[in-house]
Amino acid sequence: MKKHNFSAGPCILPQEVLKKASEAVLNFNNLDLSLIEISHRSADFVDVMETARSLVLELLDLKDKGYSALFLQGGASLEFLMAPYNLLPEDGKAAYIDTGTWSAKSIKEAKLLGEVDVIASSKESNYNYIPKNIEIPGDATYVHCTSNNTIFGTQFKTFPKTDKLLVCDMSSDIFSRELDFSQFDLIYAGAQKNMGPAGTTLVVVKNDILGKTGRKIPSMLDYQVHISKDSMFNTPAVFPVYVSMLTLQWLKDLGGIKGIEKINEEKAALLYGEIDSNPLFQGVANKEDRSMMNVTFTLTDESKKEAFDKKWKAAGISGINGHRSVGGYRASIYNAMPLESVQALVDVMKSL
Ligand SMILES: *Cc1c(COP(=O)(O)O)cnc(C)c1O
Repeated sequence: MKKHNFSAGPCILPQEVLKKASEAVLNFNNLDLSLIEISHRSADFVDVMETARSLVLELLDLKDKGYSALFLQGGASLEFLMAPYNLLPEDGKAAYIDTGTWSAKSIKEAKLLGEVDVIASSKESNYNYIPKNIEIPGDATYVHCTSNNTIFGTQFKTFPKTDKLLVCDMSSDIFSRELDFSQFDLIYAGAQKNMGPAGTTLVVVKNDILGKTGRKIPSMLDYQVHISKDSMFNTPAVFPVYVSMLTLQWLKDLGGIKGIEKINEEKAALLYGEIDSNPLFQGVANKEDRSMMNVTFTLTDESKKEAFDKKWKAAGISGINGHRSVGGYRASIYNAMPLESVQALVDVMKSL
């Protein structure tokens, strides 16, 4: 039987997507060729790329609103650099909100390109909350935030209201909840948390914010170059893009983000409900900032650790050890995680 996979990333994908993807590796579109051995310029693959890009904008409700969707490489980690490269003028200033390890890494890269103002941080309490009422400096070009903090299990519920550009790393919660995505000027996300396999990064960018920095940008780092080539400037990660397309189709068939959000809320309510009512467990994140995707918790009685670990492993549960910087446990309950798997974990917690 398939394990209950709570891995933080790479992570669970819908079973039917994995099945279709494996079929395409052997014989894609009845071409008697594998998806991964045909030209990325072939009509069959161009159709995959265009379908995936179009589904992204459709699901985010950004169609015909001046945005482009790109499937790039280098992970969200390269976007830490590409975002300032494309948006920050040499004498400009960027404002960053530091809500975890990934935010801190994005700050480090931005500092290579200009002045960075860290306008709020929850570092002093090991990132267990989201800073509120953040003041945005008038001379900043953009504000950068991390919508969901994969490691610490916190999530922005609302975003700063600003007349500056708003940039967001949505690697671990994109397509998981309804938001007004048009409040963002640039969104990026590594595929491997909620969309597909590792190897491609989704970038959604508002076209008219680009080309304004006065910088010379290397081609591979230039969003305008990728847009002008329809996300095919160089060979794209054909397999990850294909599997992302399948996942986006799966999501659309479920009723899109609206449909999945309901299920995600149910899963999170079930698990947090157990954490709050079972005296053997406690949550790590500040309640009002809790993530719907990564649920972090600890045992209140460490002497139960061995028994708990034995039980969840015996129940076919995988991937709930916490990140080393937080300790305890982290159950990642991304879009593809079924409610039954969350119930299996809750049953083990109840039985401890
Ligand atoms: C995983 C993760 C990253 C890093 O993604 P890579 O694709 O490995 O570079 C960045 N930000 C967030 C929020 C993440 O969860």
